[in-house]
Amino acid sequence: MIPVRDDLEALEGYHSAQVDVEVRLNTNESPFPPPPGFADALASEISRVAWNRYPDRAAFALRADIAAMHGVDPAQVFVANGSNEVLQTILLAYAGPGRTVVTFEPTYQMHAQIARVTGATVVEGERGGDFTLDPAEVDRVLEEHQPHVVFLTSPNNPTGLVEPPERVEQLLASAPGLVVVDEAYSQFADWSALDMVDESRPLVVTRTFSKTWSMAGARLGYLVGPAWLVTELDKVVLPYHLDVVKQLAGQVALRFTEDMNDRVALLVAERDRMSAALRALPIDVFESGANFILLRPTSADGRAVWQDLVDRSILVRDCSGWPRLANCLRVTVGTPDENDRFLTAIADILKV
Ligand code: PMP
Repeated sequence: MIPVRDDLEALEGYHSAQVDVEVRLNTNESPFPPPPGFADALASEISRVAWNRYPDRAAFALRADIAAMHGVDPAQVFVANGSNEVLQTILLAYAGPGRTVVTFEPTYQMHAQIARVTGATVVEGERGGDFTLDPAEVDRVLEEHQPHVVFLTSPNNPTGLVEPPERVEQLLASAPGLVVVDEAYSQFADWSALDMVDESRPLVVTRTFSKTWSMAGARLGYLVGPAWLVTELDKVVLPYHLDVVKQLAGQVALRFTEDMNDRVALLVAERDRMSAALRALPIDVFESGANFILLRPTSADGRAVWQDLVDRSILVRDCSGWPRLANCLRVTVGTPDENDRFLTAIADILKV
């Protein structure tokens, strides 16, 4: 063995337990495959691919389609392999050694993880006991640390909480650097920061095809931000990073917007049904604007409940050992049948 970079030695990496179960409600994917017609349309596009040629390096057609959907300029769109690679590219360009990145915990672990991998210093701001973000804490962290990049996840993962627009306005008014709003789940919520994106503001909004678009397997994500920022990201990302099949898959998916919106509506209705049913049990249920729900059993040990669910072939995310999330579990909204199985099981486990 040879020693790794000193600053990586202490890093643990990102883990998500995978167990072979019948009901998989642990990674916030869509429970549905892409709509009928998607696979055939994509196969037909793929049959015309010139495999001996590199793909369009700028992924222009895909960026143009995403831009049209959001009513922005294609130069304001950056695409990459999942929103994780979008986040990594942002951090390679705007974080790195000698720079500071702020997160408000608990939140999506990869923000801090990727920032540390780039060599940046991570400062963790704190959410309150109910996981809301106190404006005074935002001011304190920004004033004390003057970060180069600050993250806000809305809806937040794993808490599900939707940040109010005032919080984004506050960050834009007070942050000295880049503001990244991670909207991996925003289609399930009632507002988006996309309308705030403007050439005059250091704001980017990141999105993914992994959830709403039933395409976690394709690894496709993007951001909408000022064109001057996208130009900087293009310097950092590897040439031809987005393969031709993925570019086509993204474009074909966008032809099915109506089906996707129907799924979102169904998942939102299911989320609300699940939240109401869980509230009747001895469980703290946190308000969610996403396709998952954070819950904390009040009469039982969270880890033990997780294991009891696994024993019934149902997998949820065990957050009970994570900092600030003692006893908490996170359940992804699945199909109505999967949700019923989960609800019956947890009521049985909690003996109500
Ligand atoms: N942001 C958040 C808040 C997430 O929860 C996730 C997925 N767990 C991602 C980004 C990454 O998504 P992907 O790389 O699949 O686009």
